[in-house]
Amino acid sequence: MLENKSGIIMGIANNRSIASAIATHCYRNGAKVGYSHLPDSSGKMKSRVEKVVQPLEPVFLEPCDVNSDASLEAFFNQAKQSMGKIDFLVHSIGFAPLEDLRCDTIDTSREGFKVALETSAYSLIAVANKARQILKPGGSILTLTYLGGERVIEGYNLMGIAKAALEAAVKYLAVDLGGENIRVNSISAGPIKTLAASAISDFSKMCSINADMAPLGRNTDAEEVAKSSLFLLSELSSGVTGENMHVDCGYHIVGSPKKGCIEKWSKTDSSATHP
Ligand code: NAP
Repeated sequence: MLENKSGIIMGIANNRSIASAIATHCYRNGAKVGYSHLPDSSGKMKSRVEKVVQPLEPVFLEPCDVNSDASLEAFFNQAKQSMGKIDFLVHSIGFAPLEDLRCDTIDTSREGFKVALETSAYSLIAVANKARQILKPGGSILTLTYLGGERVIEGYNLMGIAKAALEAAVKYLAVDLGGENIRVNSISAGPIKTLAASAISDFSKMCSINADMAPLGRNTDAEEVAKSSLFLLSELSSGVTGENMHVDCGYHIVGSPKKGCIEKWSKTDSSATHP
């Protein structure tokens, strides 16, 4: 699906990252890909990402902190040098300070809000701005979001606000870049156990409720998200932009628990997973 295509993937932390599964699928489908890692003086971040991408024959692996304009500039200059023009970019990045994520939304600090919104939402705008210079017409930008940006999901709190901003940014960027035939879309993934997800309180409860209530009766995984990413990154989705595609086993369409859920939840003890 991506034969003779090249792109950039940002947001690999380890082999459980959603971006790692996307990278593997891009590789298997013929794409040549350059990667980013968070800069650090110890070299730990680089070697963590290297372990994942090494078998995927990376075009390059360079540092990039999306909260630094200088870092973005250097990264995209390197990308231009190594790859020339590219066909796609994956932005799989999110962060909020733990203390602001774990408190009630009403107690969010000003600084925590700024950090979360800058890293998780503004970064897409900053990255798209740089990527625009090297994306070919027909190119595709993809980011990752979660249902907590559309509805209140207990425990998601500040990240929900950041995801709402990210999803709005997808639509506005789709308009800005549409004239250049560059598409911008998001995938709203169901809960998947990753490093970022471990910061969400009651994440296991979220997974359990999701599996019980989703039409498919289970949780999704990074592989399924990666397969849908291939569609949005490839020419198969040439008419799709500004879209938020849910890869969550259908959980987002459900308004009330399915038959059997209430019975199941009432049979379990009081510490169990009923909402
Ligand atoms: P992950 O493996 O922890 O990936 C998050 C990535 O963001 C990490 O590589 C992290 O780098 C990077 N990052 C954070 N701050 C950054 C910065 N300033 N500059 C550059 N990179 C930065 O977790 P994931 O679950 O795959 O998350 C990927 C995306 O999917 C996120 O946007 C997340 O909100 C979204 N998502 C996740 C789920 C889920 O259930 N897991 C569901 C829906 C959507 P370091 O680790 O090196 O700090």
